Amino acid sequence: MAASAPTEVSTPLLRRLHRILQQQADLQGQARRGPMQLKAVGAAVVAAETEVSQAATALKKARMVSDEKQLQLQTREAHVADLNRKLNEAASNKEFTLLKEQIAADEQANSVQSDEIFEILERIDTLTGQVKEKEGLLAEAQAENEKRVAEIKQRQERVAADLARVEIQLEEAETEIPSVVKADWKRLIEARGEEAFAPIEGESCGGCSQTLTTQVASLLMLSKLTYCPNCNCILYLPEDRSV
Ligand SMILES: [Zn+2]
Repeated sequence: MAASAPTEVSTPLLRRLHRILQQQADLQGQARRGPMQLKAVGAAVVAAETEVSQAATALKKARMVSDEKQLQLQTREAHVADLNRKLNEAASNKEFTLLKEQIAADEQANSVQSDEIFEILERIDTLTGQVKEKEGLLAEAQAENEKRVAEIKQRQERVAADLARVEIQLEEAETEIPSVVKADWKRLIEARGEEAFAPIEGESCGGCSQTLTTQVASLLMLSKLTYCPNCNCILYLPEDRSV
């Protein structure tokens, strides 16, 4: 790329171009993070929704068990009433004793069943409280999410505006690129962004850390266009090195 007679370029322009490209890369990175940030804050709502749904399912199941047990209890109570009626009509001692035993067994079963139903009703109370609690947490998560989404969107709007401004600055700076290298540089900028340029750091390329010859620094001191022989970026003197 280097011409036989090195092109003269303004060091301040190289610094400015690189600074603009660095800002552009930083803003582009921020813009890319926006959707991920939105997804991350939305995850808390999804988790809270799952908790509500699990608690509601447990409550629904407990209610079904309760209904089933109440129905069994009613059926057995009807059966006991029926047996008691038969008891009055018992034709023999044997039948009477047998009915008595059946009634006793059913009443025992009903007593156990009543205790179980009582426990389930207590469990339903607890689960109802849990559903309410989880719904409260979900509402909090949704409110927090709304706030965070608004913040992220606002920040992304700022980033987009900054990016538009930086792109105008880049276009303006690009008009100052010497015409003989303009096409090359624009291709390089297009392909590598901020990595198209690097300041020298001590005796090395700031982009790839390749040690440079003293001739490179001398050329840069004379504002001569110089590429890194290793990574081929356009080198420039940083602010703390005089031109
Ligand atoms: Zn390099």
